[in-house]
Amino acid sequence: MSLESSWVGSANSAETDFPLNNLPYGVFSVAGSAPRCGVAIGDLILDAAKAEAAGLLTLAGGPLLQSGAWNPVMSAGPTVWGALRARLAALLAEGAAERARLDPMLVAQSDATLHMPFTVSEYTDFYASRNHAFNVGTMFRGAENALPPNWLSIPIGYNGRASSVVVSGTDVVRPWGQLKDPDDSLPRFDKCARFDLELEIGAIVGTPSKGMVSVAEADEMIFGYVLLNDWSARDIQAWEYHPLGPFQAKATATTISPWIVTRAALEPFRTATPERERPLLPYLGEPGPMLYDIDLRVGLTPEGGKETVISETNYKTMYYSAAQQLCHHTTSGCSMRTGDLLGSGTISGTGKDSRGSLLELSWGGREPITLADGKTRSFLEDGDTLTLYGAANGDGYRIGFGACAGKVLPATDLPDWARA
Ligand code: CA
Repeated sequence: MSLESSWVGSANSAETDFPLNNLPYGVFSVAGSAPRCGVAIGDLILDAAKAEAAGLLTLAGGPLLQSGAWNPVMSAGPTVWGALRARLAALLAEGAAERARLDPMLVAQSDATLHMPFTVSEYTDFYASRNHAFNVGTMFRGAENALPPNWLSIPIGYNGRASSVVVSGTDVVRPWGQLKDPDDSLPRFDKCARFDLELEIGAIVGTPSKGMVSVAEADEMIFGYVLLNDWSARDIQAWEYHPLGPFQAKATATTISPWIVTRAALEPFRTATPERERPLLPYLGEPGPMLYDIDLRVGLTPEGGKETVISETNYKTMYYSAAQQLCHHTTSGCSMRTGDLLGSGTISGTGKDSRGSLLELSWGGREPITLADGKTRSFLEDGDTLTLYGAANGDGYRIGFGACAGKVLPATDLPDWARA
């Protein structure tokens, strides 16, 4: 594959996140208009709702682009997804006859506000990076017992909250919670002091399911992918998680990037999961490569300061694919819905600079990292902006995700009824 030419000049650059090869789906507004479905192309957005209304994008079962969310397209299934992508590619290709009609339907990304691209119906978070699981396990149980006994057999996950998922650019308020230091006999209610990020990729379920689905069927159900920051309160988590796992520690916010990068756009970047250390049960077998080669980066910008890249890694380092996770999710008979969001789990590489959380980067706070301005961080401080970047890098082009950013605001004042 190489860069495909568009009549939108800014799309024909090796540096843009959004060449014609990408065509990711988002929801935008300009000057206070209602949120509308759009497609990123170079530094512009095609108003897809307007193009559909003008008869330039006719989809089976349509109209599908008038609701201000991509769910109607997602539930329409892979045949409609393929037709939509092919039509968009033709409309925006160099030499397209419709150029004059489409030109007034383009808006500058710099003039637009981006909104949640789809309605999240449910959110499940996994724990699928061997390096991350090993690092966290080593900190809490020592290297010999780092991986839980089930880890090499089960794509471990827990049910999260759809209501806590927010789009990039949304501020995140530091949570309050029950905390207990190891030396204290009783817990206290206090501000989280160990607020953290988790670098993840989110897989979005398009077509719903009933009953168990195979890994191959699960892959076909996935509409696309986003970057995902699963904000985590480590001190709340440490006290609350016995025996049912994380709860309020993960419920403050989960930030996703604003553009849904389709499975079709990522197709040239498929890569296989690593060799199995323990044979998987047959139902988790993969019919082909199910991971993607996506370069990932985390930037931390203190209030009024400049950004430091604190981690660089790649999605291909994961042990389980989203298709395996989705298949496992259905083994109980659990139905999946259009708009189900699956977090990959924190993505950590093998090197110290490729860890996907501050918990690992600062090794539980014992080895603070140093930022460009000389300040140090064990965990996030108020005013810090955390930005995830991701792109699959092809030959002279890239399939980018756009930034996934959030700023940490100070905890709110505690209401009187919660005080001693
Ligand atoms: Ca997570």
